[in-house]
Amino acid sequence: MDIFYENWWWMLFIAVIILWLKQRKNRPETVLREKQISIKGQKILTPISKDSPLECLLSEGKIYGPDYKDKHPPQLPHTEGCHCRLIDLLTRTDDIFYIKKRETSPLQNTDIGELDKKQARYYKYRLIIDKSGENPELKISYLELSDAIKIEKEFKLRVDDHLMNRNINQ
Ligand SMILES: [Zn+2]
Repeated sequence: MDIFYENWWWMLFIAVIILWLKQRKNRPETVLREKQISIKGQKILTPISKDSPLECLLSEGKIYGPDYKDKHPPQLPHTEGCHCRLIDLLTRTDDIFYIKKRETSPLQNTDIGELDKKQARYYKYRLIIDKSGENPELKISYLELSDAIKIEKEFKLRVDDHLMNRNINQ
């Protein structure tokens, strides 16, 4: 009889633990669902390409919103030839995670093919340098930024070739 009672108490104890864990697991989801509708900010996506205007390349990846330095996104298109678009960043944790996952996807599409994040940044800086002819200050600051990126010599040459129209794929 004593053994039966002991087991019964153990079963009750385990059932309570299971119920408690189940409730605990469900709670954060409800909180997230309530937050789902609110927009945290907007991010500009710009094609990294020779055809993108300087203004667009300078705003590539910029985030606008109440929690950021720049509160309001600019009117799009920026200028003639602008192919920028805005995507919403949501407060719901898993949505932010989803966007982050997309951002950190290993490769980024550009007009010289798929590049990793560092290569894409380097290429963007080189495009900005190339297009900043009438703004020497901008040119110098982006020259410094691009020099600071440690990147393979072969890739630098590939960008040089592309910018000088020597690329056979063009
Ligand atoms: Zn634009």
